[in-house]
Amino acid sequence: MQGYIIDIKPVKDDDLIVTLLTEHELIKAYRFYGARHSNINIGYKIDFELETTKANIPRLKDVIQIPFKWILDNEKMYCWQRYIKLFYPHLKELEGLDPFYFYCLDNLIFILEKQNALRAIIHSYISLLEFEGRIHTDYECLLCESEIKENISLVRGFLPVHAKCTYGKVFEMKKIKSLFEEKDLINLNNQEIEYLWDILLQGL
Ligand SMILES: [Zn+2]
Repeated sequence: MQGYIIDIKPVKDDDLIVTLLTEHELIKAYRFYGARHSNINIGYKIDFELETTKANIPRLKDVIQIPFKWILDNEKMYCWQRYIKLFYPHLKELEGLDPFYFYCLDNLIFILEKQNALRAIIHSYISLLEFEGRIHTDYECLLCESEIKENISLVRGFLPVHAKCTYGKVFEMKKIKSLFEEKDLINLNNQEIEYLWDILLQGL
C-alpha cells in the first residue's frame, strides 16, 4: 500500500505513531524504533505493509520511501511539509477518504518539479477548496454579509471579506476572480502569493 505521512507522534522508547493518507482512508500505524532502515518523516510518500497486532493499531512494516525528484530541494521540501501537515487536522475525523486527496498530492509532487513551491501549492489548494465546495464565488463578505465589489481581502479558508471589514491586505477584485474562477495565479505578485501562503498556513 502507498501513503503520505501527514502526522508523526512520538510515544515511549522512541517509537512513533504515524498517520498515513492513503487512497481511501487515513491509517494510524505503530512504528518501532528498531525498524531503523525505514525512513520516516513528515511529507514522505512510502510504500508499506501493515501487520495486525494485539494492540488496537497495526504495526508499520516493510517501509520503502518513494522518492520525489525535488526531495533534496530544501525550500520545496519545507513548504511541502508545512502544507501536508495541515491535512491531519483537516481530515482526522473522517471515516473514509475520497481518493481525491491522495491523487491531488500525487499531482502536486509532479507539478513541484517545475513550478515555484508556493504557487504550486496554492494552485493545488484551490482545487481542494473547489472539490469541497468551499470556493465562494458569490463574493459575499463573511463579516458583514454584503457583496464585495472591490477591495477584497481573504481570511482563513480563503473566505472573502471586505478589506475594510478586516483591515486585511487589499487585493484587486479581478485577481481574486481569476484565482477562484480560472485557478489562475499569474497576475498575483510574489508578495501577494506570500500573503495567501500565510493564510493557507492557518489551516485548510
Ligand atoms: Zn464586509
